[in-house]
Amino acid sequence: MSPTASPSATRVLVLNSGSSSLKYQLLDMGDGTRLAAGLVERIGEESSRVVHTPLGPDAGEKRERTAEVADHDAALKAVAEELSKDGVGLDSPELAAVGHRVVHGGLRFSEPTVVTDEVLAEIERLVPVAPLHNPANITGIRTATALRPDLPQVAVFDTAFHTTMPEYAARYAIDTETADAHRVRRYGFHGTSHAYVSARTAKLLNRDPSEVNVIVLHLGNGASASAVAGGRCVDTSMGLTPLEGLVMGTRSGDVDPAVVFHLSRNAGMSNDDVDALLNKKSGLVGLCGDNDMREIRRRIDAGDERARLAFDVYVHRLKKYIGAYYAVLGRVDAVVFTAGVGENAAEVRAAAVAGLEELGLAVDAGLNAVRSGEARLISPEYARVAVAVVPTDEELEIARQTYALVRGDRGADAGE
Ligand code: ADP
Repeated sequence: MSPTASPSATRVLVLNSGSSSLKYQLLDMGDGTRLAAGLVERIGEESSRVVHTPLGPDAGEKRERTAEVADHDAALKAVAEELSKDGVGLDSPELAAVGHRVVHGGLRFSEPTVVTDEVLAEIERLVPVAPLHNPANITGIRTATALRPDLPQVAVFDTAFHTTMPEYAARYAIDTETADAHRVRRYGFHGTSHAYVSARTAKLLNRDPSEVNVIVLHLGNGASASAVAGGRCVDTSMGLTPLEGLVMGTRSGDVDPAVVFHLSRNAGMSNDDVDALLNKKSGLVGLCGDNDMREIRRRIDAGDERARLAFDVYVHRLKKYIGAYYAVLGRVDAVVFTAGVGENAAEVRAAAVAGLEELGLAVDAGLNAVRSGEARLISPEYARVAVAVVPTDEELEIARQTYALVRGDRGADAGE
């Protein structure tokens, strides 16, 4: 029998396990408060870093320390210790469930899912298509299960929101048998963010999500665009892996696949070399040596040509996806920017929609310049299409989906 949540328990621990990091948040879904957030970095290295921020009503100071954290098990124990110091330990009966971010759910998982041995085996079967992420996610689930075997562990998949893509958007035009045998198709990622932000945008517009068509631009270190029609994803820019699509911090996004054969035949590069080139030494870093948009802006202001070109390549790709998804949707109600670059870089937002007035798109310079952590419109009154900034909140969305599942009321509103 799978574990069930106790009826009075309202807290959800959200875990995002990377290969050498563990990020966490503790949320109380009863009153909607966030109790703590933090991360353990450089797990397995000589000196790991533990950063814990208490967030409850009588929250104390942020605590930061270095420690030797050998593995994810030790990392979660360090998290449990920090939470205990704040009186919100993981042994509390108020903890209802643990919600895990799982990057790849393939075609099988279109909804958050309580983890069983069979579910874990399926997540493991997807490792060949998510070699960097799924193994770390599995470790996180195993570690949390060992600590609280009585609690439901819920997997919330980055790919889930995109499983509604029509087959013609998800298929690559390659030999069908080869594609199917090796699960080669477009899955999309950042789905939790696209789901949250598109629903939140409908709220911002005072419209029902089923009525609005939205283009979401999630621009963090990783970046992806999605076309969302009436709350359902109909296309997204990432594909088999998070490499496809927009220009990112260190990833190339779209390139001619022949670049790979060309480099392997003519530059003596191995598959792993090209993999590292496209994932780690490309994008903004490859173009100008920096992946932080703040630094790139600073360099542009100082007259740096390489930084200028990197910015222009980034924005040009963004504009192409806005146009493509406009065509896919037919009618667009809002274009919305989110994540580190989308929420903060006013110049990127302005440049991405510049010249698209014929499509009904415009940005009000004054509104765009305002710095705020709130969801907001930045388009002028007269614009036919709203342009918005909506801060993403993947942890809240994972906690909501997890809580709704263990409470048995899935289908609860995703927006705020
Ligand atoms: P991740 O994909 O790692 O979650 P984030 O969504 O946190 O990334 O975005 C990180 C990126 O956001 C940084 O690399 C930087 O380029 C950008 N960024 C953060 N703050 C600002 C800012 N004030 N102005 C411009 N860019 C910013």
